Amino acid sequence: QSGHDHRERRGEADPEADAAVREEEVVRDGDHADEHEDRRERAEREARIDVLTQLNNRRGFLELAEAPYRGAERHQRPLSLILLDLDRFKEINDEHGHAAGDAVLNAIGQTLAVSARRSDVVGRWGGEEFVLLLPETGLNEAVELAERLREQLRERVIRHEGAELRMTASFGVAALDGQQSLALLIDAADKALYAAKMAGRNRVSRVL
Ligand code: GH3
Ligand code: MG
Ligand code: MG
Repeated sequence: QSGHDHRERRGEADPEADAAVREEEVVRDGDHADEHEDRRERAEREARIDVLTQLNNRRGFLELAEAPYRGAERHQRPLSLILLDLDRFKEINDEHGHAAGDAVLNAIGQTLAVSARRSDVVGRWGGEEFVLLLPETGLNEAVELAERLREQLRERVIRHEGAELRMTASFGVAALDGQQSLALLIDAADKALYAAKMAGRNRVSRVL
């Protein structure tokens, strides 16, 4: 830039050098554009992905779940939703520290991610709550999956700084049944989850 100005002031035209400078500027602008793009993509990804578990966060989950929900409703196909909440998770933090709690959440996220089918949408709904949307899955089948997950989580031992951490979770399961929205399906699963907590935790409850 300054070299160019300098040359012009002295009246020395050097088209070849000018072209080289212009080319370099184009390449450098390209780099800037890529960097900008990378940063924007990263920001957009982080808005939808939970940093701790690498699962979809609530926003990411809702965005991805909307289309399969509508598809199932429109074509009258089965679809279920599982909401789960770790039992007495606060005690893990209190007894072993927040980092231990984070390690547990991370491990749960892995368990859910490997258990899910490709078409399932998995997310961290909030703090110690997770959500799975299961296309082409009726209520009974979803309850069976929730039972398997409950067993897997109950048997899992998470090692963190010498401690062996165990935990259980409570599950609420609901299936598409004349609902008007994804939000109402989630509400139904949340009510079932509440019933599982009230019934003593470490169990699966389905909408009646
Ligand atoms: P309940 O069986 O009734 O669900 O009991 P609970 O202790 O699991 O439920 P409560 O809502 O009282 O506590 C949830 C705890 O989860 C409290 C909060 O500190 C913890 N928590 C939420 N998000 C995170 C996180 O990202 N990391 C860690 N380490 N803890 C978290
Ligand atoms: Mg909770
Ligand atoms: Mg809890």
